[in-house]
Amino acid sequence: MSNCIFCKIIAGEIPAEKLYEDDNVLAFRDIQAQAPLHALIIPKQHIATINDLQPNNAELIGQMFLAAKQIAKAEGYAESGYRTVMNCGEAAGQTVFHLHLHVLAGRDLSWPPG
Ligand code: 5GP
Ligand code: ZN
Repeated sequence: MSNCIFCKIIAGEIPAEKLYEDDNVLAFRDIQAQAPLHALIIPKQHIATINDLQPNNAELIGQMFLAAKQIAKAEGYAESGYRTVMNCGEAAGQTVFHLHLHVLAGRDLSWPPG
């Protein structure tokens, strides 16, 4: 989608600090990191929200979590712990409407989230 920030990152039109990439998934550091590790894992195809997922996206979602696991390990947080979050819709705090999985680690993360 031409006016989507994350599609522009995929296209290389906006720079990002990449952490992981394969044929279907890209991960990069959040520009406003909320923790020492704050990665965003996105599908290379534009899917706006969880509500837009189709049954044939099931493998893609699995690939996003496998990327989260790999990044957490590479960054040294596999054992100490990390949080994965996918906000859906404005009330949940979604601001970029291209599906993304947050991976946060490196500080104490309170629960429940705000
Ligand atoms: P949401 O609030 O939609 O769950 O998360 C969107 C995230 O994207 C936010 O944490 C925000 O900081 C991040 N973000 C927005 N624009 C950019 C950008 O241009 N580059 C990067 N790396 N992150 C961005
Ligand atoms: Zn997009």
